[in-house]
Amino acid sequence: MEVNVTPVRDKKNARKRKANPLEWKRAKEKMLRYSLHSLPVYPTCGHKTKAFQCALLTMLEIRTFQEKFCSDKKKLVQDNFILQFCKAEKVMHYRPKNGKHGKKLFQKKFCILSLQKTRVLVCKNALMGILGITRRRIDTVINNFVRTSFPPNKNREGDRKMETYSERKK
Ligand SMILES: [Zn+2]
Repeated sequence: MEVNVTPVRDKKNARKRKANPLEWKRAKEKMLRYSLHSLPVYPTCGHKTKAFQCALLTMLEIRTFQEKFCSDKKKLVQDNFILQFCKAEKVMHYRPKNGKHGKKLFQKKFCILSLQKTRVLVCKNALMGILGITRRRIDTVINNFVRTSFPPNKNREGDRKMETYSERKK
């Protein structure tokens, strides 16, 4: 998208409301980023176990779920939505395979709301495809939640600012 930027210099035009194409563009990009990109992808993993029931979902269920997710374009609302269907459970039995990796303290579980409003457990790949989001986004949302034990909201940002402020004061 191209936007013509003509700087307003003469006094005659000073009263004219100046458009801020940069801000516009940014807002539009942000909106696009969080709006419906593509049709949901039906999980190809074929999971049909107790832990993952991806193959039991119908296309209608997937579509309904994605539409619900995309109905609000705000990142904050979407992050909260993701969080509603993700669960980080503390790992009770920790078996280290090798010392290189850090301790896996949480096991993440994902689910989707069926048309009967029951929760269907799915794997992460399935959730990514259905919502059309990246692995990184899911991880960030959950990790932030686990770390702060607060859902994503504006208060948390506020708290963080307070913290840095008091640190500087010392
Ligand atoms: Zn699966």
